[in-house]
Amino acid sequence: MKKDMWNTRRGKIAHLISERNHTPSEIARELEIPIKIVLEDLKHISRSSKYGELLILPAKCRKCGYNFRAEIKIPKRCPRCKSMWIEEPRFMLRR
Ligand SMILES: [Zn+2]
Repeated sequence: MKKDMWNTRRGKIAHLISERNHTPSEIARELEIPIKIVLEDLKHISRSSKYGELLILPAKCRKCGYNFRAEIKIPKRCPRCKSMWIEEPRFMLRR
C-alpha cells in the first residue's frame, strides 16, 4: 500500500483496524467522526481490494448471548430477548 493512502479518512480507519480490531464507536472516538460515517467507510473498505480483507467479529447480545450476523451495522435490539444491551461488532483488516 502506498504511504499517502493512510492520509485519507478511509486510510486512517484502515490503518487503525489493521493494528487491532475496533468497534465503530472506538473508531469514531479516535478519529472524531460520526459513527454513521465510520459505517459507510467500513462498507467501502470491505468492497475495495486495496486495503486487504475486512474481518468482522459479529455483534452479540450481552444479555442472552445471541450472535448477530457478521454485518457492517450496529443492531439496536436483540431479536431473541429484546434487550438493547448489544455489544458492537468489531472490525479488523487482514494484511
Ligand atoms: Zn438477547
